[in-house]
Amino acid sequence: MLRTILLALAKSSRLRRWITTNHTTRRMASRFVPGEELALAIEAARVSNRSGMSVSLDHLGENVGTSEDAVRARAAYTEALERIAAEGVDANVSLKLTHLGLDLGETFCAEQLRVVTRRAEELGNFVRVDMEGSAYTDRTLRLVQQARAQTAAIGTVIQAYLYRSEEDVRALLGIGCRIRLVKGAYKEPSNIAFRRKNDVDANYIKLLKILLPSGTYHALATHDPRMIEAAIRFAAEQGITKDKFEFQMLYGIRTDLQSQLVRQGYRVRVYIPFGKDWFPYFMRRLAERPANLIFFARALLRG
Ligand SMILES: Cc1cc2nc3c(=O)[nH]c(=O)nc-3n(C[C@H](O)[C@H](O)[C@H](O)COP(=O)(O)OP(=O)(O)OC[C@H]3O[C@@H](n4cnc5c(N)ncnc54)[C@H](O)[C@@H]3O)c2cc1C
Repeated sequence: MLRTILLALAKSSRLRRWITTNHTTRRMASRFVPGEELALAIEAARVSNRSGMSVSLDHLGENVGTSEDAVRARAAYTEALERIAAEGVDANVSLKLTHLGLDLGETFCAEQLRVVTRRAEELGNFVRVDMEGSAYTDRTLRLVQQARAQTAAIGTVIQAYLYRSEEDVRALLGIGCRIRLVKGAYKEPSNIAFRRKNDVDANYIKLLKILLPSGTYHALATHDPRMIEAAIRFAAEQGITKDKFEFQMLYGIRTDLQSQLVRQGYRVRVYIPFGKDWFPYFMRRLAERPANLIFFARALLRG
């Protein structure tokens, strides 16, 4: 219920204005977003690298309404790729197609994506296309599949809460596409998505058992110790070595678990978001864990 309300509030422009200009909420958000500037994200990436973790940089933004904004987003991504290369940081980039202008047209967005993946390929790097709400699933997969036919420097995300995901996984494996498996962060109706945590978890484990033996390098993005244990146990049983996949977690969440996995010799990548448009990302993080909301409310009361 709370999750539903928070995800609905993530679309409110009044709340966005208030939260993004309030000093206390800005400070709170810095737990999940290290800063608005690329330089701060690069600095956070260096810290993660020093702790033995690689990084994915996400320039925050989604659902842009003009081609000027979409082109600016594209330029921010090519700049991030160039800075990563110039500064020798171990990082790739994650992006949302609605940030590159998917709402403005599929052909336009495909061209935008092509520019970013071409630069990534030139620099020996990689672009992960995040998965957004279900209104975008078909279009995202279509554009990723088209792009994957041109370059291996692209991968995408599959959400375990969607009923369709096993089929999508099999289609992507057929073209050797790298997948990041997540539970799913959006509000979806029960005719297309599992609503109960147990069902989502069971599907997550089912899908990871398809991904890990596939021979392609995939990512398991979760902070859930039960999912992580299931993956570790399954990989050990199947003789899948630790260099054949990676765990991914979000900046500022379960940093203890991140370090523990590194100590155990697993590959860990931290997803580091940056940029001015952090409000929807922040709301999704609050929605994932009621304790975050309590923490947030306390901070607000303290002022
Ligand atoms: C690297 C990465 C990339 C992602 N990309 C996408 C994407 O492209 N599309 C998409 O729909 N979703 C994406 N997600 C979000 C994902 O779908 C989940 O919403 C999110 O990861 C929470 O699910 P969980 O697997 O951690 O398990 P949960 O069952 O939600 O949580 C397990 C435990 O993790 C901890 N935890 C989880 N979330 C939080 C939080 N916000 N604050 C503090 N503790 C927390 C708590 O201890 C909790 O008990 C991504 C997640 C990660 C880690």
